[in-house]
Amino acid sequence: MKYPSGALSLIPTAAVASLALAAIPAPTPTITGFSAEGAANQIALEQRFDADIDPNQLRDWLKRMSSGPNHVGAPHDKENAEFTLQQFKSWGWDAQIEQFDVLYPTLKRHSLELVGPTKFVATLKEPVVEGDESSARTDGMPPYHIYGADGDVTADLVYVNYGMPEDYKTLARRGIDVKGKIVIARYGQGWRGLKPKLAYEHGAVGCLVYSDPQDDGYSQGDVYPKGGWRPEGSVQRGSVADMPIYAGDPLTPGVGATKKAKRLPLAEAKTVLKIPVMPISYGDAQPLLAALEGPVAPDGWRGALPITYHVGPGPAKVHLMIESDWELKPLYDVIAKIAGTENPDEWVLRGNHRDGWVFGAWDPLSGHVAMMAEAKSIGALLKSGWKPKRTIVYASWDGEEAGLLGSTEWAETHAQELQHKGVVYINSDTNTRGFLNVAGSHSLQHFMNEVGASVKDPQTNVSVLDRLRAKVRVDAYEPGASEQQQQTAKKAADGSDLPIDALGSGSDFTPFLQHLGLATLNVEYGGEDDQGGVYHSNYDSFEHYIRFGDPQFAYGVAEAQTVGRAVLRMANAQILPLQFAGVVENIGGYLDELHRLTDEKRSKAEDLTQLLEAKAFSLAADPTRAVGAPEVEPETPYIDFAPLDNAVARLKKSAKAYDDAYSKASGGAASLTASQRVELNAQLRGLEQAFMYPAGLPGRGWYKHLIYAPGLLTGYGVKTLPGVREAIEDHRWEEANQYAAITATVLATYCDRLDKATALLGP
Ligand SMILES: [Zn+2]
Repeated sequence: MKYPSGALSLIPTAAVASLALAAIPAPTPTITGFSAEGAANQIALEQRFDADIDPNQLRDWLKRMSSGPNHVGAPHDKENAEFTLQQFKSWGWDAQIEQFDVLYPTLKRHSLELVGPTKFVATLKEPVVEGDESSARTDGMPPYHIYGADGDVTADLVYVNYGMPEDYKTLARRGIDVKGKIVIARYGQGWRGLKPKLAYEHGAVGCLVYSDPQDDGYSQGDVYPKGGWRPEGSVQRGSVADMPIYAGDPLTPGVGATKKAKRLPLAEAKTVLKIPVMPISYGDAQPLLAALEGPVAPDGWRGALPITYHVGPGPAKVHLMIESDWELKPLYDVIAKIAGTENPDEWVLRGNHRDGWVFGAWDPLSGHVAMMAEAKSIGALLKSGWKPKRTIVYASWDGEEAGLLGSTEWAETHAQELQHKGVVYINSDTNTRGFLNVAGSHSLQHFMNEVGASVKDPQTNVSVLDRLRAKVRVDAYEPGASEQQQQTAKKAADGSDLPIDALGSGSDFTPFLQHLGLATLNVEYGGEDDQGGVYHSNYDSFEHYIRFGDPQFAYGVAEAQTVGRAVLRMANAQILPLQFAGVVENIGGYLDELHRLTDEKRSKAEDLTQLLEAKAFSLAADPTRAVGAPEVEPETPYIDFAPLDNAVARLKKSAKAYDDAYSKASGGAASLTASQRVELNAQLRGLEQAFMYPAGLPGRGWYKHLIYAPGLLTGYGVKTLPGVREAIEDHRWEEANQYAAITATVLATYCDRLDKATALLGP
């Protein structure tokens, strides 16, 4: 998630003080969605909001909440739910716990051994680290992959690099297949759940996933406890549910996992995998990899272990056994509300998950304590007599790690109400030292640029937006910068809004954006830390976070100030602060990419045909290390992009018309009557839902947003204009044409609605 700019920089604290004194007329503050007077009041409110945020409190909460294992079903996860509930209540919120019951398998027994040609028994344990008290506890969740299958298999081993689609093509060209084998893949590149899924689709009977030190261990920096990076015995846990099909409880797709919900039998749960899969440390992986022979691993496949990487298959033979308890477990979401005074049926939603793989100090509690600081400060405003115009809803989600369970089940349970009332959903997760990172709906790009301009960076004292501008420009200057980086740097230099990224998946925003169609943001700080090193391990602890994360909690405070402003502005804005230049710029860019993708595919396929006709691959190959030709690519026809091209051309006009009308009407906010504002906000609220297609994406109807989706074959990574893009990538030409037309239709619906909003702003 990259971040933005306001053409207008919002006044820093000192200027606000001088406004109050009124000795020298200060420049009138501008905030989109507010009249001049409204903006001045809002900025004064934000000063009061900031005053109540205390970094020591964030530290105390983090210490307390990360003091025990926090997975679903752990007593400490429930204690934290009750603690969070009681805190929200004490701050004056109307709060309650909402419970769901989800399929949550836990490990009963597991083992992994090398049975030939040498013997080795994997430890499957994370050793105690000196100076990290919690690493000595024995009540944590042992390393495992949730929603893999149970099994007991013995087979030859094959190394498959990252285990992504390209890797299987590379193997095929060397005449190696994985049928009946156990594969070992390293973490990285694509989402973890794809590794066992693709292994299964290629015929493997088991899958191991290890953390190579090249990706997050000693190759990156000193390992824990000397530095923050992953030590030899550390394991990355995680979900391997097939979440690109649907998120949430595998047994209740599309409906809330309430007590009386109808549940699928386990065998019909599409997101549970079919083969056993196990995460291991590089300490456990090294003897297995060292026992492989066969071809030396190709360029780009070799990690940082002190061995020669071979691909196999065999002679290394491994025995893998996993047995789990397939039980339902309770989830505890904490939901807290403050009713709005003027528009109680318009909801500003904000959430962060609370469950962790073990202690979860980084992931998720660093973000959770920032959210608590916001809630406490909003509570203090409430006690002083202030009230929001719109309703504010805060959520502490459970069960995110296993598959966005708590957020998805809640969103599915309240789908109708949320689609009717939801104005925006703002998410965060791990938060740490570094740069503002925003992703989400592009109608909020300008809004977040304004917010970023109003928050001070704790390390440099410029705004977090200006610091990000500097970073974007420096990165683009360094050798190897991409063309896109250079374009963004130009925007950073000339003061235009910085772009925000599109959202794929990987945290609780997914059900709100891609299933319900609410305008959504994910807002976090990061990039100057060593978090990768303990991600989802036993060492994601308080001790680790205060050494290698955000020691002063200064970025916890910055996060609370940033999201707090976003929430308060959304809650109080006279006109919902959506702007549309960013929507056009980004969607137009995605469409250009699709044109290029198709052209490149076509010329690549033609090149390949010529190379095959000339027998170039066999002539160029080293006969002692044979690498075969790639499979023939089907010819790429011309896709009918005309409906999309026309839709984007219209979107350009509609977006400009709204933005122009808004700025003409502005202090726009003030010039409209109350009833005109109500009507306008009703058009703007739920505008994002115009992007939804009721039948959803091909083969995964739960995902209904036709602009943003997690990739079917990338997992967390976003696919924009996904219906069309994935069809092209996968050579489903008819479907590409079909979804180009459908996507054009939803864009037209969006424009219709936007034009109505423009008309309400006046001639
Ligand atoms: Zn998380």
